[in-house]
Amino acid sequence: MTKFETVIGLEIHAQLLTKTKLFCSCSTKFGNPPNSNICPICLGHPGVLPVLNKNVVEFAIMMGLAVNCSIREFSTFARKNYFYPDLPKGYQISQYDEPICENGYVFINSESGEKKIRILRIHMEEDAGKSIHDQGYGTLVDVNRCGVPLIEIVTEPDLNSPSEAFQYLNKIKQILTYLGICDGNMEEGSLRCDANISIRAMGETALGTKTEIKNMNSFRNVERALTYEIERQIDLVENGGKVIQQTLLWNADKNEAYPMRSKEEAHDYRYFPDPDLVKLHVNEKWKNEIKNNLPELPEAKFNRFLSDFNLPQYDAEVLTSSRELANYFEEVTLDTKDYKSASNWTMGEILKLSNELNLSPLELKLTPKKTARLIELINQNIISNKTARDIVPDLINSVKSPDEIIKAKNLIQISDDSFIIEIVNKVIDENPTEVKEYNNGKEKLIGFFVGKIMQLSKGKANPQIVNKILKESLLAKK
Ligand SMILES: [Zn+2]
Repeated sequence: MTKFETVIGLEIHAQLLTKTKLFCSCSTKFGNPPNSNICPICLGHPGVLPVLNKNVVEFAIMMGLAVNCSIREFSTFARKNYFYPDLPKGYQISQYDEPICENGYVFINSESGEKKIRILRIHMEEDAGKSIHDQGYGTLVDVNRCGVPLIEIVTEPDLNSPSEAFQYLNKIKQILTYLGICDGNMEEGSLRCDANISIRAMGETALGTKTEIKNMNSFRNVERALTYEIERQIDLVENGGKVIQQTLLWNADKNEAYPMRSKEEAHDYRYFPDPDLVKLHVNEKWKNEIKNNLPELPEAKFNRFLSDFNLPQYDAEVLTSSRELANYFEEVTLDTKDYKSASNWTMGEILKLSNELNLSPLELKLTPKKTARLIELINQNIISNKTARDIVPDLINSVKSPDEIIKAKNLIQISDDSFIIEIVNKVIDENPTEVKEYNNGKEKLIGFFVGKIMQLSKGKANPQIVNKILKESLLAKK
């Protein structure tokens, strides 16, 4: 039986976090009343002229530099012509044969190790509006999104499995959010992904006929849709069929892809340079200014976390997976030198709480300062690890400090020997049978005694001192 290889290329659209649109001063704010963020320019009224938003160009260059692209000194804007109800201008302004960024790459961790994924191009373009079909009035059109700036990031066909596509997409999202130029939210449409997929017999070098899948609106759906389409193509070819070039729409509810109507698919965009816009000139000085102001990127941060904080690889990877989480961790380390505990708390409680409450880590009332204080309180034996975790809900729901809470709840750990000896003796006296069994070799009974002691001390006895005194006292009974 023929063994097949999968070839995937991705086109990612990222909505840029500028305040205004690509060619006018309308707001890009999401969720405003329909058709309120509009003006004659983004509606394409006769006689209006687009004015390029400098911020968009800077964001595009930032992304280009972050993924090792060369930045074109002169790039052009082109009109992509098509008719659609949510596109009042009848064309989108995009870039065609002279995109701003070209020939970049990123590395991903694939199943077979580190792998280089080449990026063919990154170009700027304006978004179209939105047709809304589910309000019970036929089709409604909201053109607020017309003219909102996007960059499109296009790979070479270097991806060979759905999981590699997932890794790559994640990497791009990570870089975009580190740069602060896109919020990376696929569910809300600020990050969108289309895929070109083909299969070929192993060892073959020519590319097979590809299909394109659109409408995959979550990371999980990208993996599912690609898996589906690869299986469909292999099945088809193995049964003597032929893959035909077409565009498919992913239906997440039905877990299948279906072809777009051929009319929608017949593209002849008649690209031509937009006569209203001059060539965009990016000189060395501007490019270098942007380069020098780039924030620290995920890979650099990962390496720095290994060396500066001496963290295990796993920790550095989890912490740098998002810029917010990494920032939280770094803020904790301003107040404690116990980096491993800072990492454990950030990867554990903080990540969990931030997911549960749908808040960015730095928005939590359990601030880095409070977390650092908890770590110090544990390390100084003032509270137990368990107590620290028990008071997390109090820290999340109030502005009180850990010290105020442990004082108010009387939770300070007792390390005083005489207090602990008293409780240990009481527990030993009350349980003579267990003491005998323990001394006859049933060592796991130690847990039974510790439990009783912690109960009597209301959880406040220092466990290390309890253990030490308990063992000595039991030995004395032998
Ligand atoms: Zn406008």
